[in-house]
Amino acid sequence: MIAPHRLRLDTAALVANWRALAKLSGAAACGAAVKADGYGLGAIEVARRLADAGCRDVFVSSWAEADALAPLGLPVAVLHGVREEDVAAAKAGIGWPVLSTPAQVARWRAAGGGRCDVMIDTGMNRLGLSAEAVGEGVLDGLEIGTLMSHLACAEEDSPMNRRQRDAFASLAGRTGAARMSLANSAGIALGADYAFDLTRPGLALYGGVPCAALAGVIRPVVTPEAQILQRRVLRAGDTIGYNATYIADRDVEVAILNIGYADGYWRGFSGGKGAALHDGARLPVLGRVSMDLTAIAVDAAPELAEGDWVALDYALPKAAAASGMSQYELLTGLGARFARCWFD
Ligand SMILES: *Cc1c(COP(=O)(O)O)cnc(C)c1O
Repeated sequence: MIAPHRLRLDTAALVANWRALAKLSGAAACGAAVKADGYGLGAIEVARRLADAGCRDVFVSSWAEADALAPLGLPVAVLHGVREEDVAAAKAGIGWPVLSTPAQVARWRAAGGGRCDVMIDTGMNRLGLSAEAVGEGVLDGLEIGTLMSHLACAEEDSPMNRRQRDAFASLAGRTGAARMSLANSAGIALGADYAFDLTRPGLALYGGVPCAALAGVIRPVVTPEAQILQRRVLRAGDTIGYNATYIADRDVEVAILNIGYADGYWRGFSGGKGAALHDGARLPVLGRVSMDLTAIAVDAAPELAEGDWVALDYALPKAAAASGMSQYELLTGLGARFARCWFD
């Protein structure tokens, strides 16, 4: 079966982004967050390429995601920790849990312990043990590889960054952890104080640019491509698509693409906010993006015909601003109908 949509995925850009982030991490090791199926690109394909480049620290959310990476033979850290129903998977050697509650710590001890990581809450109030719990000895005797915390506002110039960093730094030497890790992609750009021993970029590996400091450093990795199902002419006064939100003010050449919000090409790209790119021409979306169909103006591309492929404009910072979605959502929403095509 020939897939009707393609994601063109640039291996060289992925690896270059990881190397750039590793360099910005200074003496700290640079890992990779490949949760949510490698932010939609395909976790095993991403992790294999980064492991070949030298990445040794991979983060997923669940044991199901860890299991999907087992063929790589590179144990992964599981950010959601260990539920009762995960204990068998967690003891099977495909990875270790990132423990974030006293109950998880107790469960891990009862299961015989072994290598684990630990998440500390330094103010995000999402996951993590408190510094007080550490002080009370909750972690005593555990075999902790990496002590972690997570920044709430790393892509902003917020006083919270420094507060979280200082709270985390105050735990140095208090847990027996071999390493400490705080920074996500944007956190890496906050500077050497935030790198500790290991950084954990996700978004920027995949071409996302969370903050100005990473613009010009990070290369795009992902280009969605769709196929033209029909080319037609709208006469002046004609409308197109649901709710007839676009009315042609002159004769307009139109191509109907086989992609829509069910593929993660969100409705926010409607009404010219999104576009296809062809030979340097911008071909704007006309009217509403539908579930499986999107109309684009093709006056500027007279040669495009039924069956031709076009690339969508998916420069992440701009596409996020235009569509009202985050760069994270633009990546993780990319649907199952895409063939994920890696090139070198
Ligand atoms: C997702 C995640 C990351 C990566 O964050 P980005 O903003 O995508 O770089 C790092 N650490 C933890 C704990 C995460 O959940």
